[in-house]
Amino acid sequence: MTSLDKIVSLAKRRGFIYPGSEIYGGLSGTWDYGPLGVELKNNIKREFWKSMVYSREDVVGLDAAILMNPKVWEASGHVAAFADPLVECKFCHSRLRADQNEEIKAHEESHKGKKVEWTDPKQFNLLVEAKLGVVEEAKQKVYLRGEITQGVHVNFKNVLDSSRMQIPFGIAQIGKAFRNEITPGNFTFRSREFEQMELQYYVNPKDASRWYEYWKEERMKWYLALGMTKTKMRFRQHEENERAHYARDAWDIEYDSPFGWKEFEGIHNRGDWDLSQHQKESGQDMAYFDQQKQEKFLPYIIETSGGVDRAVLFFLANAYHEEKDRLILKLHPKLAPHKVAVFPLLANKPELVKKAEEIYSQLSTFNPQLNPAWDDRGNIGKRYYSQDEIGTPSCITVDFQTLDENTVTIRDRDTAKQERVKVDDLTKAVDIK
Ligand code: ATP
Repeated sequence: MTSLDKIVSLAKRRGFIYPGSEIYGGLSGTWDYGPLGVELKNNIKREFWKSMVYSREDVVGLDAAILMNPKVWEASGHVAAFADPLVECKFCHSRLRADQNEEIKAHEESHKGKKVEWTDPKQFNLLVEAKLGVVEEAKQKVYLRGEITQGVHVNFKNVLDSSRMQIPFGIAQIGKAFRNEITPGNFTFRSREFEQMELQYYVNPKDASRWYEYWKEERMKWYLALGMTKTKMRFRQHEENERAHYARDAWDIEYDSPFGWKEFEGIHNRGDWDLSQHQKESGQDMAYFDQQKQEKFLPYIIETSGGVDRAVLFFLANAYHEEKDRLILKLHPKLAPHKVAVFPLLANKPELVKKAEEIYSQLSTFNPQLNPAWDDRGNIGKRYYSQDEIGTPSCITVDFQTLDENTVTIRDRDTAKQERVKVDDLTKAVDIK
């Protein structure tokens, strides 16, 4: 089994990620997050929001609609230029992306010895179309947003007018995006429906390069602080012919994944592309007036655009550890679906179960985000292994000594060491802020 297969299998077996609409044979490029997956995903999004919005005075949040007036996508250039080069295999009519060398090579090898011929590359637009309205003939063609970004830029003036923000400032957003990807694959890495977490930071054009460097470093620090291994993370600058139509400069944060170095997050200098396009096409003035300097300008935008699903996948891959006799997900405690598990030593001793239930409810009342797990099946060793596999940092066992001394054992996921702690000190011992 390759390491990606192992992650896919763990994700399915333990309820992190399932194939979308599986009982009907699935739908390519869609995935459903199970009971543990939704917790991991929400924890990632919560940490993003904490670091971007709650801990900064210069950033506010926004949640724009997925469906937008189609003129937005014409103005932003997506109708004309949001495309990948598509080629078709002349033997089997499989369609692939011409710029994905590994996939092209693998496909050619699958035709064992035959010389594969490809059609000339055609530009294939990635926007997903939908129809809106109740009268069949009058239905309006709309697009499911291909990036969450535009919902922020069309609200630039609304945010300025309704808040006290002054440049430089940013708008953060998390939400779903949709792309008709030619070759979805590598598990959730390339999906057709996925979630993005972004910051659009508006600056005076003169300060753009300074802010660009600042945000590159900040985003890398964020991933490292949540436990990504430093040697598996790097920056890569886009070649000129690789850059998206809006980008003046583009660097990716890449991760050394089970299928090679891959894009995790893009940091782009979008210049004044978006605001000038929306100004031109909507006829609304998008300029900013700096009161102090008595200067009017179209701000430049520094964007940090990460994928939530890629974060789930890469945090899982990075946390996956096999030891001699156990599998551990060494997730950062802030990301772990359960921060703590509570076990009564024996399920058939009501006094132990009662005490364990009390501790469970004490912990979840104290901080609901601890999301304690409960297990009273099988022996303690099996319960530990089961929690190790899903990344629970601490396991608390209530035993007979608990009833005498009001102490419990806490067992640490990574070292497997146990220590005895007073029940009164428990919240301090397992709390995660
Ligand atoms: P790629 O080159 O892999 O197609 P991209 O450069 O088109 O990605 P961006 O448009 O910069 O990606 O999107 C920003 C982020 O959104 C990416 O870094 C990634 O984390 C996420 N993302 C983009 N496309 C997908 C997808 N199809 N599935 C999952 N996440 C995606």
